[in-house]
Amino acid sequence: MTQYPKLHMVIDGEEISGGGRRTFDVVNPVTGETLAELPLANEGDLNRALEAAQRGFARWRHAPATERAKVLHKAAALIRERTDDLARIATMEEGKTLAETKIECMASAGWFDFAAGECQRLYGRELVRPVGQRSVVRWEPVGPVAAFAPWNFPLGNPSRKLAAAVAAGCSIILKSAEETPASALGILQCLYDAGLPKEVAQAVFGVPDEVSRHLLASPIIRKLSFTGSTVVGKHLAKLAADNMIRTTMELGGHGPVLVFDDADMDKALATASTGKIRNAGQVCVSPTRFIVQENVYEKFRDGMAERLAAIKVGDGLEDGTQMGPMANSRRPDAMEKFVVDAKAKGATVNTGGERIGNQGYFFQPTVLSDIPLDADVMNEEPFGPLALINPYKSEDDMIAEANRLPYGLAGFAWTSDVQRQRRLADAVEVGMMGINTHMIAGPDAPFQGVQWSGHSSEDGPEGVKACMVVKTVHEG
Ligand code: NAD
Repeated sequence: MTQYPKLHMVIDGEEISGGGRRTFDVVNPVTGETLAELPLANEGDLNRALEAAQRGFARWRHAPATERAKVLHKAAALIRERTDDLARIATMEEGKTLAETKIECMASAGWFDFAAGECQRLYGRELVRPVGQRSVVRWEPVGPVAAFAPWNFPLGNPSRKLAAAVAAGCSIILKSAEETPASALGILQCLYDAGLPKEVAQAVFGVPDEVSRHLLASPIIRKLSFTGSTVVGKHLAKLAADNMIRTTMELGGHGPVLVFDDADMDKALATASTGKIRNAGQVCVSPTRFIVQENVYEKFRDGMAERLAAIKVGDGLEDGTQMGPMANSRRPDAMEKFVVDAKAKGATVNTGGERIGNQGYFFQPTVLSDIPLDADVMNEEPFGPLALINPYKSEDDMIAEANRLPYGLAGFAWTSDVQRQRRLADAVEVGMMGINTHMIAGPDAPFQGVQWSGHSSEDGPEGVKACMVVKTVHEG
């Protein structure tokens, strides 16, 4: 049986813990009990990691693409081999079901494999110049990357950041969320066991604001990759600006789902209800605002309430659990506040709306309907199992509601009218659009938002290129 591991940082190849460092209690979200103590970096640790990252970059930028690819493919194979352990550890510290963390392992392996292939296709180009001149456009790794990964995909978030940086020839200092450190360390170990020099990828943990301020103030760091809330993303973008550090920002969303009367309603309901409870709604591309054409509104609302009321919520390690606890104590608190506020402003609770039990961080899958637009939940990312359902008359009204907020990460539409599908693909302001599907991520597909949901891409060729800079060389 997999045990939750002892925790450490990995700086310049050394596993670091103890030494009088401050610690953080990693907690099991099913019980609220401490799983292990995590050591937090001090200034000396961060300086040591920066110096090693500089050395790591000097070495790795010259590693042949075939060598980088070999390491990445091997790491992918190790993730697949170690899936049972990695998945259990991720479920223990984050709470989502074992079925979900197993899928996350497969996705992580997929990102490493794709990046392995991609790093061998980082072609430049030769320009057509007057006779006697040669001009070449070449792609180079940007330099040491500071990467901040959140807790909601404890295996996947670190993987996509590590895969892109390593493929591009960068070194990387990863600060994954303190709440889910063991998953990130497990992925990193796969890279080391695959042969990655240890100064190329390192793991630090700490007080997030201390770590980001320190790393982003260093001239060694050339790239920031952040996944998390829009508030923190804006703060980090300002810090990065002082050193003109390039940024990839994967921030919050408020997923609009437009449901039309010509949709396959059974498929829409089955897909949307499953999508809503995935990781208890703590997914940046979670379907959130259901914008439903009025003549199918009641059918959709009642169908969603029926499905969410039947979801089996429990310990993610147990067979049959469909939705685990929320990841930390902040989330059920936030859900409670959203529901109380929406009800006070006139919304209806069709199912759920309350915490479950008094142990751990469980919250009921919830449907709210007829919600006034000034309710907090209609404006802030709920990041939880709340489905918000409102009726609309026309396609134009529905598009206007989809675009009402400054978020633009994922949007979804359910309609069988092909012309309408194309109009929506044009009109909805998002970085990713799912039409009659909620499957919108894959290793080969760029993943990104617009407006307050961020900029630059992860995954796909664009994700690797986001860790590179272009140089044009003109020869006389
Ligand atoms: P938060 O905003 O405090 O933190 C979000 C993430 O950013 C965490 O991983 C945290 O460790 C990190 N972070 C916070 N301050 C930082 C700093 N100064 N420097 C570097 N990293 C920092 O909120 P939270 O309570 O952990 O999560 C709640 C909100 O965050 C959610 O409502 C959701 O909007 C957002 N979130 C988004 C994603 C995503 O995939 N885009 C993932 C997790 C959380």
